Amino acid sequence: MSAATEVTTCRSCGGGRPRPFLSLGSTPVANRLVRADALDAVDPTFPLGVGFCERCALVQLTHVLPADEIFDQDYPYFSSFTDMLVRHSEKNAVDLIESCGLGPDSLVVEVASNDGYLLKAFVERGIPVLGIEPTPGPAAAARQVGVPTREEFFGAEVARRLVDEGLRADVIIANNVMAHVPDLNSFVEGFSILLKDDGVLSIENPGVGALLDHTEFDTIYHEHFCYFSTIAVDALLRRHGLELIGVTEFPELHGGTLRWRAAKAAAVGTSAAVDASVGRVLAAERAAGLDSYDRYAGFGAEVGELQDQLRALLTDLKAKGATIAAYGAAAKGATMVNSTGIDTRLIDFVVDRNTHKQGKYVPGARLPILPAEAVLERQPDYLLLLAWNVKNEIMTQQAEYAARGGAFIVPVPRPVII
Ligand code: ZN
Repeated sequence: MSAATEVTTCRSCGGGRPRPFLSLGSTPVANRLVRADALDAVDPTFPLGVGFCERCALVQLTHVLPADEIFDQDYPYFSSFTDMLVRHSEKNAVDLIESCGLGPDSLVVEVASNDGYLLKAFVERGIPVLGIEPTPGPAAAARQVGVPTREEFFGAEVARRLVDEGLRADVIIANNVMAHVPDLNSFVEGFSILLKDDGVLSIENPGVGALLDHTEFDTIYHEHFCYFSTIAVDALLRRHGLELIGVTEFPELHGGTLRWRAAKAAAVGTSAAVDASVGRVLAAERAAGLDSYDRYAGFGAEVGELQDQLRALLTDLKAKGATIAAYGAAAKGATMVNSTGIDTRLIDFVVDRNTHKQGKYVPGARLPILPAEAVLERQPDYLLLLAWNVKNEIMTQQAEYAARGGAFIVPVPRPVII
């Protein structure tokens, strides 16, 4: 087993060591679910912490995993399992088709296109697409629904090769991927190379402002290298000849998502116009202090407080004889339970609708992952919503559980029982 490496250079601007502001201890790789036949092995753990670049305002991990620990072939995430995400994506596709005037001669490229859940919406409307997805399982699933997909990691080199093949994109979409990219500059340079001169880039990612405001520390895990503000994205794009033309906020998506639309700097003022949202969001982020270390300095203490409250709540309920299960075996659930010190002494099992995860165990805490039906079969007294980002969806699904007297525990921004 190789060791984690300390980050000494900003991943975006190349400036000095990001200034640390939060440590979540040493935790296992969140997405590395444990198979039933591997329960005897010990999960390797690696330091998990974040720091702030005082030059370009990018929040990023203080340590990175050895390369062989990242992007496991078994990477268990298939997008189509979240109803809210599918609806959101469909609307994004329709918006882009209308605002960019896309048609049968256009090309939409999506980076990290997963199982094709978003590009499918373009295909259904007769618009040519190309998905780029490094993980074989989701890439195969995408091809099955008619989304041509190449299995690779996107970057400047891949973009150049596509251009050599005669491909240029009218629209490039990159949703929930930028945080996972080790070489950010090559990635964004790739957009610049592949985009047509009047093309539009559309990026979505949870925003670091919401992470701070709602104490969403569990969205931090080893495979998320960076946590973006609009300020940091603006600096990153400009370095590669791209300019923000619009920012949209989605407070309900993944705990607070931002969508950044960008165009080539040369197109701004001709084919592209900068929406007022850009200046408004940048000013709001500066007013909130997202460009200064001071805003981040107290976050570690806030996280520690939340963890103490949650541990105390669960311990108290358990001491009173209550049974507790959890909902959501995603990476954020692993960060929450492992950095807070929650394991099978407090939680009996976790349910997840993703069939690829069922029968396995959350690394570290070793919570068994069962199908969602187990909630009604076993009727625990409390259900801890580790997937709090889709809490409304879960509470609707689990109306029968609640009707029979079950209660929900929402851990962030502060632990509450509903
Ligand atoms: Zn920087």
